Amino acid sequence: MSDLPRNRAGFCTACYEPLFDVDEVWTEETAGRGSPLVGEPRRYGEVYDNAFRVGVLFTDGTTTMWTVCEECVDSVNENLPRIWAGVIRAFAFDWKAKPWMFGQALSEEQLKFQADDICRVASLAPLGVLYSERWTDMIARENG
Ligand SMILES: [Zn+2]
Repeated sequence: MSDLPRNRAGFCTACYEPLFDVDEVWTEETAGRGSPLVGEPRRYGEVYDNAFRVGVLFTDGTTTMWTVCEECVDSVNENLPRIWAGVIRAFAFDWKAKPWMFGQALSEEQLKFQADDICRVASLAPLGVLYSERWTDMIARENG
């Protein structure tokens, strides 16, 4: 499973190319020895011009937003099962990495709550893209 690509914040959800500057990565000093986070992005900088945000509708009626690159933005609908598999792998990675992220072990209760949440999300399926918008347009609009 670890050889398969997974989604990461700051990267294209469909092709895994970077879409934000990475200002800092986790190291053994910041994440702890043996942490799966070592080498993963910790802090992000500027967004790239070719980054888009797509709103995706799920089977339970909820929506989420994925960041994709300009080359992938028009083919998200036809690649939903493959993209979703990478997102689920990201959830599983985050779950394993959580105790390091917070610098302490999570309680049994917290781990169970998060496992339940992953199961809930994994039981959904993405239905399609509702809209897409270039990140820089969105930022310009929000800055009025
Ligand atoms: Zn892409």
